[in-house]
Amino acid sequence: MTNNIWWDDLQIHMVEWRRHLHRNPEVSFHEEKTSSFIADMLESFGVEVKRHVGGHGVIGTIRGDQPGPVVMLRADMDALPIHDEKDVEYASRKDGAMHACGHDGHVSILLGTALYFSRNKAAIKGEIRFLFQPAEELLPGGAVHVIADGGLDGVDVIYGIHLWTPLPVGVAASTAGSMMAAADDFYIEIIGKGGHGGMPQSTVDSLVAGSALVMQLQTVVSRSVDPLRPAVLTIGTMQAGAAQNVIAESCKMSGTVRTFDEETRSGMKERIHTMVAQTGAAYGAKTDIKYIMGYPPVVNDERETERFFQEAVHVFGAQNVQASPMIMPAEDFAYYLQQIPGCFMFVGAGNPDKGAIYPHHHPKFDFDEDAMQHAVKLFIAMATGYTAEV
Ligand SMILES: [Zn+2]
Ligand SMILES: [Zn+2]
Repeated sequence: MTNNIWWDDLQIHMVEWRRHLHRNPEVSFHEEKTSSFIADMLESFGVEVKRHVGGHGVIGTIRGDQPGPVVMLRADMDALPIHDEKDVEYASRKDGAMHACGHDGHVSILLGTALYFSRNKAAIKGEIRFLFQPAEELLPGGAVHVIADGGLDGVDVIYGIHLWTPLPVGVAASTAGSMMAAADDFYIEIIGKGGHGGMPQSTVDSLVAGSALVMQLQTVVSRSVDPLRPAVLTIGTMQAGAAQNVIAESCKMSGTVRTFDEETRSGMKERIHTMVAQTGAAYGAKTDIKYIMGYPPVVNDERETERFFQEAVHVFGAQNVQASPMIMPAEDFAYYLQQIPGCFMFVGAGNPDKGAIYPHHHPKFDFDEDAMQHAVKLFIAMATGYTAEV
């Protein structure tokens, strides 16, 4: 059933599906047609389908003949509000929307994997669920809705793959523990008392308090965070005042915090709140802070990542399996890993010969479609390996 001709055939199908989705992108929380395309396709393979999971999510289920664990494989499906600048036949046909992160590829990979298992049920001990998740690119993200809707109920382990153009095609990478950052944002306002620039004694200068606060906040990472744990705090904007001889009533600033573990993340949040309130108080100003928690850090399970390194060698060859460095982009796959063990993996998809040289979220982003077949093989190896072990 799964000889070379089968794989060649699958590749033709995956390219066709991926290009169809690429021409017809749907942005986060609007993946209506993408969702029906997936569900209809799964049904045509004879896979049991649940639609509308946490919005436009779809879960396909294939049960093996023997009892065993429940393995979930996840793909995200949303596009980005970016105008496609590629000059290819399958470029986006929708103004201002584009699959610039490769989620079209992720959908095709997971459909390809479902097709494989629908024809090879004997390889399954237990159950494999195929989770097509909407809205990865936009807060609060689709994963929280999928979980709230019971999407993870009864699942023992979860795996996710991201095609990754910074890595060359033919390579795979992951890392145990923290792999991708948590990204949280904050908006601060310091409210003083405006007045004449020549009579400061009857005012509260929000600009001076704000300036002090910017400097204070620089000490959060250097003095309050374990030096062995990476963290960043950046103040990106600051606005105050309207005239050279008027003391500013209000000073606004905004910034972002990146961390790789929950302890550092919550510690920094607390420290920032304290510093804002107390620096403001020291200058006699009132303060307000809005702290917006983004996705948590992606923290891979140690044992499941060890399995990735074992299984990936069979698919990619030992020299092509790498330990991924920690990277700053965030991923809502993190929420699943907070609930159950699992592993998030990168599959190399960059190839200068095919123009796949742009970073993710770039208007000319594209990936080497051969990477989709590598990803299917990795999913199959992870899923069957897990059920064989348990
Ligand atoms: Zn993205
Ligand atoms: Zn992505």
